[in-house]
Amino acid sequence: MTQQSRAATIYRQPLMDLLFQAQTVHRAHFDPNAVQCSKLLSIKTGGCPEDCAYCSQSARHGSELGASKLMEVERVLAEARRAKAAGATRYCMGAAWRSPKERDMPAVLAMVRGVKALGMETCMTLGMLDGDQALRLKDAGLDYYNHNIDTSERFYPQVIGTRSFGDRLDTLDRVRAAGIAVCAGGIVGLGETEADRISMLETLAGLKEPPESVPINMLMPMAGTPLADAPALDPIEMVRTIATARILMPRSYVRLSAGRSAMSDEMQALCFFAGANSIFVGELLLTAGNPGEDKDAALFARLGLRAEAAA
Ligand code: SF4
Repeated sequence: MTQQSRAATIYRQPLMDLLFQAQTVHRAHFDPNAVQCSKLLSIKTGGCPEDCAYCSQSARHGSELGASKLMEVERVLAEARRAKAAGATRYCMGAAWRSPKERDMPAVLAMVRGVKALGMETCMTLGMLDGDQALRLKDAGLDYYNHNIDTSERFYPQVIGTRSFGDRLDTLDRVRAAGIAVCAGGIVGLGETEADRISMLETLAGLKEPPESVPINMLMPMAGTPLADAPALDPIEMVRTIATARILMPRSYVRLSAGRSAMSDEMQALCFFAGANSIFVGELLLTAGNPGEDKDAALFARLGLRAEAAA
């Protein structure tokens, strides 16, 4: 059986069989009641030259979001200390760039060193990297680099025109070659087909080594973007995507990412049962809303889940 037909067979099986298989795989590799909690901070918001159709940070769309400067290192570290006190074990820093400029590298490297010194795992998402930048980030102590493939190779050009699917894979290769763990996933609800969702998961699972972390986002339509009026995806497709990711990448953390604020507790419970075992905590996800700590604490208590301790 080829990888492609295996993924499609997994994805399309009756939902109860899919959930049972995913939960069985999940229990073989993870504590089913522990969820890894990451905190995401936008260190440079808006004004991005890229044209990702879902993103309110693109300077090419008519969204109201202004462009900020790169945050000062001390402010980032103060936020990281707060996140640690609130239980986050990984600190993710995102900048709305095509790729980091040389003038920004000293500050970015100082952020990595500072967060690492707090005893947290470090993650960054800064756009495309060259090999030298990846090595310098690794030397500074970067644990994870996030760079999503977003969707299938076929559907990709309908979502992003300013960088190719191949560019994304090249950056992932450089991150891997530098010895940094890979965080790569995608978004559902962009108008893609079921076959596109399956193909996206095949690409991720078919990387030389699967990503250690696989964020699955559900589109949160943002005003002013080309996808502002995208029709809502059947939430069960999100559950199927997570379950298939869990089965194809049994040792990866699968992150239930953007879209949680629009989900009921029941929907999130289904996603956890399907094998999601990582979330972003805090009120904001870059520019989109997130449930916030009180709601997450209540959700965890309701489901008997607990935050995974730092590695
Ligand atoms: S997703 Fe990232 S690269 Fe794309 S427009 Fe938004 S900030 Fe820029």
